[in-house]
Amino acid sequence: MIRLYNTKTREKADFETIERGKVGMYVCGPTVYNYIHVGNARTFISFDNIRRYLMWRGFDVKFVQNVTDVDDKIIAKSLEEGRSAAEVAAEYTEAFIEDMRRANVLDPDVRPKATEEIPEMIELIGELVDGGHAYEVEGDVYFSVRSFSDYGALSGRNVDEMEAGHRELRADGKGIEDRKRDPLDFALWKAAKPGEPAWDSPWGQGRPGWHIECSAMSRKYLGLPFDIHGGGGDLVFPHHENERAQSEAACGCTFANHWMHGGMLQINSEKMSKSLGNFKLLREVLEVTRPEVLRFLMLQTHYRSPLDFSNERLAEAASALCRIENAVKNLDWLLDNAEDIPSPLDLRALIERTRAAKMGFILAMDDDFNTCKALGEVFDFIADVNAQTAGKTLSLSDVPPVRDVRALIVELMGVFGIDVEAAADAADGACAYPAEVVALAADIAGYEGADAAEAVDALLAARADARAAKDWACADAVRDGLCGLGFVIEDTPQGARVTYEG
Ligand code: AMP
Ligand code: ZN
Repeated sequence: MIRLYNTKTREKADFETIERGKVGMYVCGPTVYNYIHVGNARTFISFDNIRRYLMWRGFDVKFVQNVTDVDDKIIAKSLEEGRSAAEVAAEYTEAFIEDMRRANVLDPDVRPKATEEIPEMIELIGELVDGGHAYEVEGDVYFSVRSFSDYGALSGRNVDEMEAGHRELRADGKGIEDRKRDPLDFALWKAAKPGEPAWDSPWGQGRPGWHIECSAMSRKYLGLPFDIHGGGGDLVFPHHENERAQSEAACGCTFANHWMHGGMLQINSEKMSKSLGNFKLLREVLEVTRPEVLRFLMLQTHYRSPLDFSNERLAEAASALCRIENAVKNLDWLLDNAEDIPSPLDLRALIERTRAAKMGFILAMDDDFNTCKALGEVFDFIADVNAQTAGKTLSLSDVPPVRDVRALIVELMGVFGIDVEAAADAADGACAYPAEVVALAADIAGYEGADAAEAVDALLAARADARAAKDWACADAVRDGLCGLGFVIEDTPQGARVTYEG
């Protein structure tokens, strides 16, 4: 049974879906006025992992993510750049989709844009006005917070204390709009200002508030209630509190059954954010880092915990991922070189270990998506398999169970959107040999090319020749040179074999 931590109840509970075998999931998307940074990416990658895991466990997942393409920040940027808000939004929507695909995040099943769902929002606002939960003032429409008695339950806030906070603000004279009946009320619809994008509505020309879009879109594409509502922890208040208030006030039913929120990605213990200026764009990071490595880094911290981002952590993630990719390469080598000999392995134990690894992975992930523990299971599995197979030649009868071992490693990492097979095959992956090996091969083996893998082959050939000629000094020079760069040479009946440990 999958157990999920629910922000609203502040505890883990069994994940019961509304419809058997189906999951409806809504994760708030970006406001498209800039490229997304790795902090935003953390939230999207976390929910991509959650979605992928649910799919792998057999659920039919419908994943909806909006794009906020009308907003104050987009309008400000368009004025700054002297082009329309629609142009700004279109450019960054495209960039967002591109970035997500580059990070191997699956496309949502539905990616509604706010500007294309205005009638649905107007309809919902109309229902709220009719039901006495919203009121119009001079072309603006506000949600009446006190009309929804459960307001504050999601974020654990008390309405009266919030009101006191607002009164203090007012005492300081800091801009509380007097049009609102209550300072806590928030805008559902904003009357048009000259030059801003605007749509016709029963309250005159205007545009929607931010919160109402998610309420309208989730209702349209998932129906209420739906199973999982997610986003970064910074959205709990006010965004999700307001979404919930609007949706539940209008329908008189539950909005979302499980509220999931991800921890913030931080730099030097401070939240990465556009406003603090301490951000790194996702696309900048992916120019120098494989997406698999970034995803691996994210997995090493539980999705609800803060994650400290640094180049050192990226490098650590790269080498940890390399260990898994190398394990797959090693298994390939063993499988390719199996012989017609008696099995050197305890096959029953190996099969049992494989089953236990999968079980351990599932138990870790079922417990509120403990990716960190699940990775630990994969590493322990690899270590045990290595211990069993090290220095051995497989027999033909070992091939099927060892192939299962390999397939399981590939499958489990695939659940996280990480293709360890492709990386192991690719010559230019992170586990590709270091560039220095080319110079070494030029020195010792007279290699004239620029390909690291070829250089390693040339060095091994030179070593074999040197050994045949009993030129031990040269053979040792090759070995020492390769070892110095992080390679391990193993002499096997099939010839010398080199692995790169980094
Ligand atoms: P925004 O475009 O600011 O609405 O953010 C889009 C998504 O990124 C939201 O789900 C935010 O919660 C999330 N987000 C923003 N900053 C961070 C951060 N530093 N770490 C994790 N998620 C973040
Ligand atoms: Zn939202």
